[in-house]
Amino acid sequence: LIQLSIPLNYLGMVYREVKQALANIQRMYALLDEAQEVSDAPGAPALRVNGAELRFAQVDFHYDPARPILRDVDFCIPAGKTLAVVGTTGAGKSTLARLLYRFYDVSGGAIRIDGQDIREVTQDSLRAAIGIVPQDTVLFNDSIYYNIAYGRPEASREEVIAAAKSAHIHDFILSLPQGYDSAVGERGLKLSGGEKQRVAIARTLLKNPALLVFDEATSALDTRTEKIIQAELEEIARDRTTLVIAHRLSTIVDADEILVLEQGRVAERGTHASLLAAGGRYAALWAMQQSETPAAA
Ligand code: ATP
Repeated sequence: LIQLSIPLNYLGMVYREVKQALANIQRMYALLDEAQEVSDAPGAPALRVNGAELRFAQVDFHYDPARPILRDVDFCIPAGKTLAVVGTTGAGKSTLARLLYRFYDVSGGAIRIDGQDIREVTQDSLRAAIGIVPQDTVLFNDSIYYNIAYGRPEASREEVIAAAKSAHIHDFILSLPQGYDSAVGERGLKLSGGEKQRVAIARTLLKNPALLVFDEATSALDTRTEKIIQAELEEIARDRTTLVIAHRLSTIVDADEILVLEQGRVAERGTHASLLAAGGRYAALWAMQQSETPAAA
């Protein structure tokens, strides 16, 4: 029995590995399909940015035709203004950012920047115009310098350091044994959530995009770090067209407009004050989050 079970175990292992390899190949093809789906239109011009007014015009979207994710989502962020989107988990908030960056094309309607349909301009020019501070920043297995400079690889050392200073991470970097040359990422120094967000902010500052997207982290940072980061984000959002995907309402009270997304539809819209006065879903969410906030915060 022992003799038999060893090769069987071994076979099981081989089977699992082959299965994993096949899954990886499938994923690779899925990615290739995606890449094809969003290729540049022949002869597409570069996006011409003039203030970066962002319009989602009656946008419908599904990853899988059997399951609509966004339905008739319609909004306009005038140049330099801030719009925040809130809603329950899975409502489709992060999908808005994926569509804007053109990881996927809309299934219906259109997304326009300064009047140009994003499907009709080059992806390079589109992505150059957009800075995303994601929920979870991916760090490359490289120096912290490289990780910041990634925002604009041709930037000078002075510009990289200036961006790190503005993102309040310069002093932390200098405290590391190898300063800007310290290795970070999986195989290097593991940064905290707040430090990673600062790297993302520094990258974005260096990129200096006309359009900003903040996909707020769901995992809470400590209150003090969060307040500081919030102030930094407000600073870089000033005078830029900004889309905030919010998980905590306290961070968006000053937004020019707030959309409440529910199962892919816009359920309510207005300013913080008008939504509170309306006494609907937003007001209920607000009351709930207020009661969750510890008294000390
Ligand atoms: P959260 O607040 O939890 O981050 P969200 O509102 O940002 O949620 P999305 O990430 O936009 O939600 O996802 C909306 C829906 O789309 C979810 O039900 C999710 O399961 C589904 N979804 C997301 N990405 C994909 C994908 N690549 N393929 C299929 N379905 C997806």
